Amino acid sequence: IKPIHIIGGGLAGSEATWQAVSRGVPVVLHEMRPVRGTDAHKGDGLAELVCSNSFRSDEWRTNAVGLLHEEMRRAGSIIMAAADAHKLPAGGALAVDRDGFSDEVTRRLSTHPLVSLKREEISGLPPADWDSVIIATGPLTSPALSAVVLELTGENALAFFDAIAPIVHFESIDLDIAWRQSRYDKAGPGGTGADYINCPLDKVQYEAFIDALIGGEKTEFKEWEANTPYFDGCLPIEVMAERGRDTLRFGPMKPVGLSNPHRGGERPHAVVQLRQDNALGSLWNMVGFQTKLKYGAQADIFRMIPGLGDAQFARLGGLHRNTFLNSPRLIDPLLRLKADPRLRFAGQITGVEGYVESAAIGLLAGRFAAQERLGHSPPRPPETTALGALIGHITGGHLSADDEGRRSFQPMNINYGLLPEATTFETTDADGRRLKGKDKGFAKKRAVSERALRDLDAWLGQELGAAAE
Ligand code: FAD
Repeated sequence: IKPIHIIGGGLAGSEATWQAVSRGVPVVLHEMRPVRGTDAHKGDGLAELVCSNSFRSDEWRTNAVGLLHEEMRRAGSIIMAAADAHKLPAGGALAVDRDGFSDEVTRRLSTHPLVSLKREEISGLPPADWDSVIIATGPLTSPALSAVVLELTGENALAFFDAIAPIVHFESIDLDIAWRQSRYDKAGPGGTGADYINCPLDKVQYEAFIDALIGGEKTEFKEWEANTPYFDGCLPIEVMAERGRDTLRFGPMKPVGLSNPHRGGERPHAVVQLRQDNALGSLWNMVGFQTKLKYGAQADIFRMIPGLGDAQFARLGGLHRNTFLNSPRLIDPLLRLKADPRLRFAGQITGVEGYVESAAIGLLAGRFAAQERLGHSPPRPPETTALGALIGHITGGHLSADDEGRRSFQPMNINYGLLPEATTFETTDADGRRLKGKDKGFAKKRAVSERALRDLDAWLGQELGAAAE
């Protein structure tokens, strides 16, 4: 069998390699370290964790990343097997001994008879006789390969400071205070004139908010981030606040064209707008609220905004260098580049965020490539699974995939907002009392997680069926 070429031996590339060789398909894995380093990796091991040693919550019943762990375990993930083998005590989280973890992945892959590990940088277009390639070079893809990908995709930027604005779960927004309205009731294409959720601030609330932004604790830029420009000139909101107390009120918080129905139609002093972020309508993005405030400070300060007092954040804001594709436009549902389908992408470069999510997309890319090589048509995981929700986010489940969507497509961690809600769930506790508030939320999540694992098992069974034919 002809080999698949996988470029990048990080979280995604290692997982993709394992999935392919586990199906009997040989892999040539090209990893540039130690010949060439990155700004964040320190050693030459495969699947090196560049920062924290945590895979986040391991609780699958009520936590979306825990659910993703469980799905990956069932799908035979090497990343999860190595993490479980090198687990450290960390409460409900899965934290790992980073060296033991990376050594284990390196050992298992480099000694596998179907893996050929080449320590080299791929700096040009993969040769034409490599008919199946997975590019898994991550957020710190080497500049030479970035340039090739840019040319292939016809985009004009690949690495920039992500201006990530926070995303709020819809059900945590208080619509007795906030209201739905587009500026001047304008209905854009496909819109209704009530496409935004608006949170009003009076003068006192606005001034207190500005003070909190200016005083809030900020994350420092890493030195290697210093030379990357701000994407589209987007400034963090706290930088805008420092430039003048009214800068935000004339920028992302301007109240023009809006009237508050809870206050007899008055125009607020300032406003925070939220825009729908996924097709399900369960996630809402805080418009123009990119920030490099520390996570703890963000949650406290943003909950000062009327209507967001109990906000639950699916993602907090941030600014950091990243490399990722406009996947909804460029990548097909099986992770192939539409313009050149012999090339697949996997990992953070596809627009997911996090170690586990990057490995999860590697898992899918490796399976898809191997199944194709074996002459089977790969089934996609159902959208009711965490794996399916994640691939849906990057290959089209997202609201807008047009040019305008370029700015709104941002990397995201797995979260329940990406999965369809469960239609049935427990409504009473063991004593027959009606579940309310948090308990009701947990019951809903449990139902989504249980459905996900049932559907996942059926999907895994489909592959076995295809292999038996
Ligand atoms: P990587 O794990 O980075 O793997 C890519 C591999 O490709 C690397 O080994 C690299 O050497 C190799 N490579 C690059 N270019 C070439 C080339 N041209 N030829 C051959 N090989 C090449 N996520 C978290 O969950 N928790 C965190 O704490 C966290 N911290 C982060 C900190 C930083 C500074 C960054 C940049 C990201 C962080 N992330 C974090 C996000 C993300 O989860 C990780 O970057 C993750 O490692 C991405 O997995 P990946 O497989 O896509 O890329």
